[in-house]
Amino acid sequence: MDPFLPAPPADSDPAGSLPLILALDQNGVPQRWLHWQTACFYYARNLVAWVAGDNDFTFHGGICRRTGERSHITANSIIAVRGQARGHLDFSQVPPLNNRELFRRDRHICAYCGHQGSAFRLTRDHITPVSQGGRDVWMNVVTACRPCNQKKGGRTPEQARMQLLYAPYVPNRAEFLILCNRHILADQMDFLARHVSARSRLHADPLLSGGPVPGHPQLAA
Ligand SMILES: [Zn+2]
Repeated sequence: MDPFLPAPPADSDPAGSLPLILALDQNGVPQRWLHWQTACFYYARNLVAWVAGDNDFTFHGGICRRTGERSHITANSIIAVRGQARGHLDFSQVPPLNNRELFRRDRHICAYCGHQGSAFRLTRDHITPVSQGGRDVWMNVVTACRPCNQKKGGRTPEQARMQLLYAPYVPNRAEFLILCNRHILADQMDFLARHVSARSRLHADPLLSGGPVPGHPQLAA
């Protein structure tokens, strides 16, 4: 299971349109996205150490038989969860490699011709081909349009006389959390942006300033 995204709720989710909650460890390091049910679980167990978001969401539960009042929990958009630092992976851990996040890392731009396209026209190109010992890792892959990928074939860029327009890199956890969630609130984006590596291409992207980018249409709160 992807450690950065929550498992889908088991039941039908009447509040499925609600944004995910950003979970931090107690040191304020971003960890993962939570469904509101999980956030409520942490609140109910008194596991929320502190909050850092601008948005609160109130969730209603059942009627208390003794008082006749309906229970509710108010959850913040950014919560620090007790014990998360021990229970989760290190901030420097390499996030999983998926095409969706790869294309977003590369801003949907082909690394060889510079054409910007939609995800279904793009491919994952192994800079050093797998047939030549290249690995399927962030540092050996770039986004390529289908014609460029076919033209390059099983060759390196040097062998194919095709120049890379940008270099690959490994997104850190904060950047990956931005890449893998299409519905990020402004306060969550501000928080994550402060943890994104200075070398990240996101800094040159409207993603961090709230503008529209291909495949990432809804970011503002
Ligand atoms: Zn191309």
